[in-house]
Amino acid sequence: MPGKKLKRGYGKSGAFRESEYAMSITKGISQDFAPSRYDAIVVGAGYAGSVCARMLAEGCNMRIAVLERRDHIAGNAYDYEDEAGVLVHKYGPHIYHTFDERVHQFLTRFTEFTDYQHKVLANINGTLMPVPFNHKSLVLAFGAEKGERLYSKLVMTFGENKKVPIMELRAKNDPELAEVADYVYENVFLHYTMKQWGKTPDQIDPAVMGRVPVFVGDDDRYFPQAPYQGMPAQSYTALFERMLDHDLIEVFLDVDARDLLTIDDTNVMVCGQPYGGEIIYTGALDELFGLDLGALPYRTLDMQFETLDMDQFQPVGTVNYTVSEDFTRITEFKNMTGQVVPGKTTIMREYSHAYEPGSGQTPYYVINEPQNIKLYEQYRERVSGLPNFHVVGRLAEYRYYDMDGVVASALDLSDEIINQR
Ligand code: FAD
Ligand code: UDP
Repeated sequence: MPGKKLKRGYGKSGAFRESEYAMSITKGISQDFAPSRYDAIVVGAGYAGSVCARMLAEGCNMRIAVLERRDHIAGNAYDYEDEAGVLVHKYGPHIYHTFDERVHQFLTRFTEFTDYQHKVLANINGTLMPVPFNHKSLVLAFGAEKGERLYSKLVMTFGENKKVPIMELRAKNDPELAEVADYVYENVFLHYTMKQWGKTPDQIDPAVMGRVPVFVGDDDRYFPQAPYQGMPAQSYTALFERMLDHDLIEVFLDVDARDLLTIDDTNVMVCGQPYGGEIIYTGALDELFGLDLGALPYRTLDMQFETLDMDQFQPVGTVNYTVSEDFTRITEFKNMTGQVVPGKTTIMREYSHAYEPGSGQTPYYVINEPQNIKLYEQYRERVSGLPNFHVVGRLAEYRYYDMDGVVASALDLSDEIINQR
């Protein structure tokens, strides 16, 4: 029912529940929704929107309406307990990690983090090897003697505890390094990347491969050297509940902001009226204009969840299938959250394919290619002249951001707005 006030708090199994938080949350908006009651309208209740809402409410007492078209908060970080009672991530495995002190300090106001250190194994013809490919992987791939020799060569060339992007390793002329590069390229990157992007590693943005470098060392964590990493002690959704729990913030679910916004070259109207407050938009820019310049390309994922009658399915949080299968990886959530659910575990397989606009799919991954960036810049140009209209986040900035990158960007934008006021 539009405008129905929900019970306090939001969470478990997609159901609303009583909670210790007084977050104001409503499904739909009522006929008498008055934009002028709010100093800012935030579109999207993911990291980008929620961080801005909190910062602006606290930083300059702004009254905020957060409009979210899904039926839950937390954006793609949303998690919930499934029917077996296993805490799962609805939109893919999310592992918090950052080098950014400010981001970490901000988030730890709303949650503690466990000391979970994410580890990933690649299933290479049945052998499980650490990814990023490291000292141990070399020994598993080439045997002890040759593996150690190759490792010494890597240390001599790049130094110890160094991250080396596969494309950099491939560029070396030395025959032994070329052997390592060929092995890793073929067995870790080529097929996985073909599945994930429909292209070879040479055909995509080198920064994407650079996210998972070869690691010249023994650190077998997926995010080697990141000083802050872990999982939120309760859940991501609880983190968001706390962030949005503020007297000046009201959250409205099941509301597509495009139904409320009218945009021309110089103005934004909200509910048919001129709006004098700030608008923070965290959705896709092409959608905002009905794709009228063309659709921004994305990759999407089909996520197939399966609950099994066993305690544990695989030894680590994620196993990447780098030479076989149609899916890219299997995640077992209990291995990441540390949750104890005897006799049951839930796993999830990810199948990647091209995103079709208007199909109801979720645009997960931007495709960072020059023609796409050019199209994005054209949309961006159209919003740049709009007064007090701000874009932030993975969709709105058309960037392959991790959670910490989005939080940093939202903190920066909030600072700017606060400083102007
Ligand atoms: P989103 O989370 O997408 O939030 C945007 C919100 O805006 C959505 O809820 C959407 O419904 C809403 N919205 C859009 N348009 C409208 C509209 N018109 N009206 C109302 N609401 C609207 N990061 C990590 O740091 N570690 C990881 O391990 C990790 N794993 C990931 C795995 C996968 C499969 C994916 C896809 C991403 C992963 N990320 C990870 C990245 C992380 O999900 C993002 O960086 C972060 O969630 C982006 O936050 P956001 O607020 O920009 O966008
Ligand atoms: N990648 C790969 N093999 C792996 C892991 C990663 O080829 O075992 C490539 C792939 O192209 C992937 C990119 O590196 O899209 C970035 O990987 P990451 O795990 O950071 O992707 P995400 O978790 O964001 O999906």
